[in-house]
Amino acid sequence: MSRQPESDYDVIVVGGGAGGVGAALGAAKAGARVCLVEKYGFLGGAATNAQVLAYCGFFQQGNEPIQAVGGAGEQVLEGLRKLGVAADPYHSETTGNWIVLLDPERLKVALDRLCAEHGIDVWLHTRLAAVSRTARRLEGVTLAGMDGRSQVGAEAFVDASGDANLSLVSGVDFRIGDEENRLQAGTMPLRVGGVNPDVKIDRNAIKAAVRTYNERGNEPIHRDDGGIYTRVPGTSDFWWLIIDREMPDLSSRAFTHAERSAREMAVALVDILREQVPGFERAWLAQTGPQIGVRESRHPTARYEVTYEDVVEGRERGDGIARAAWPIEVHKEVGRPMYEKVGGRGYFHVPLDAVRAKGLDNLWYAGRVIGADSLAYGSIRVMGTAFATGEAAGTAAALSTTADGRAPTAERVREQLISQGALI
Ligand SMILES: Cc1cc2nc3c(=O)[nH]c(=O)nc-3n(C[C@H](O)[C@H](O)[C@H](O)COP(=O)(O)OP(=O)(O)OC[C@H]3O[C@@H](n4cnc5c(N)ncnc54)[C@H](O)[C@@H]3O)c2cc1C
Repeated sequence: MSRQPESDYDVIVVGGGAGGVGAALGAAKAGARVCLVEKYGFLGGAATNAQVLAYCGFFQQGNEPIQAVGGAGEQVLEGLRKLGVAADPYHSETTGNWIVLLDPERLKVALDRLCAEHGIDVWLHTRLAAVSRTARRLEGVTLAGMDGRSQVGAEAFVDASGDANLSLVSGVDFRIGDEENRLQAGTMPLRVGGVNPDVKIDRNAIKAAVRTYNERGNEPIHRDDGGIYTRVPGTSDFWWLIIDREMPDLSSRAFTHAERSAREMAVALVDILREQVPGFERAWLAQTGPQIGVRESRHPTARYEVTYEDVVEGRERGDGIARAAWPIEVHKEVGRPMYEKVGGRGYFHVPLDAVRAKGLDNLWYAGRVIGADSLAYGSIRVMGTAFATGEAAGTAAALSTTADGRAPTAERVREQLISQGALI
């Protein structure tokens, strides 16, 4: 790989969630020197910082689990298996989809190991603060760590921050939320410990507990279906998505209200589970967060936006660089998710231009930052798909550094991705 001697790295990836880990692995496998920056003390993104304990998007919907994501994503599942996590497809009774259940602590270790094995320079507890740019290129980033600020240069950059923080400070145009600037609800996932493993959980009893909670005048819970829940394999824990919070905007005030109110609600709700749900007599609130789960924030402008039609028609395309197979799942109304199936053969292609920033030649997008309209976003944002779009973005970024900064063709990126085990 040809390198500009003045650059510290070939590729800098901001954000260590599924998109960012995918991007870092993709870039490293394509031969780049990679820096992966993450503001928390661990990798994993929403899986580890918001207890989103299931990978969606690895398999197509249907009676049999047909794999849609390989490459970096498959390496992560292998890493989990080495640590004793089954990481097998699990058919969800509540949604009818195939998911992979996670153990967040082992996931952190699996991701640490994978990055180390691929020579990725990981900077934890480090936040992207600013960038330096010329008209069409980013030159470097300012990273704020425990020991102050550092200026770090690279040839190409990947925004895998979920909230498009790299794009924001780079001055890229963006939309907030859907086309009417409405954000999807956030959800505070709960982990409830001490649930009797011998008692079958009764959904009617869970629904009754939510009714009691609402009758007692607490801040209302809008999900009257009992929410999405499962037992956490190998533990006496119960994982529950029931507390949705409307997000009026992206202000610190809105986030502070959402976090605080969700915690109050969680404590009151688990007290009622203990009082009236069989099997929960000794239950306790083991964990919220560490932070509320953010479904949606900014969408920076890409060279292509994946559309609703792409999803429902299952469009396959010659410039596709990743498969996406999760149905559209949009949480516009608090507590009332809306679903729609993927058409065609059960997956659609994300084209190369959806992972490329508009207006900057060396900025790429991974995970939930990629270009998509608000309905298609309901499909592409899941973590299995984020590994795939991340691997594609990182690989394209790495290949661009060998061609004087020019973007590689979709054909070249596909060829490299296939050699790395990706499914396209
Ligand atoms: C309640 C809820 C339930 C969900 N359920 C599922 C599910 O069951 N299965 C599924 O697959 N998906 C689910 N999703 C969607 C999924 O979790 C996200 O869309 C997915 O995590 C996107 O991956 P990502 O890597 O793009 O972003 P994230 O997972 O958000 O990762 C972004 C990373 O960037 C870091 N970061 C951000 N800003 C900076 C900065 N300035 N400097 C350094 N680091 C930064 C963050 O700390 C984070 O680690 C759910 C989401 C929510 C909110």
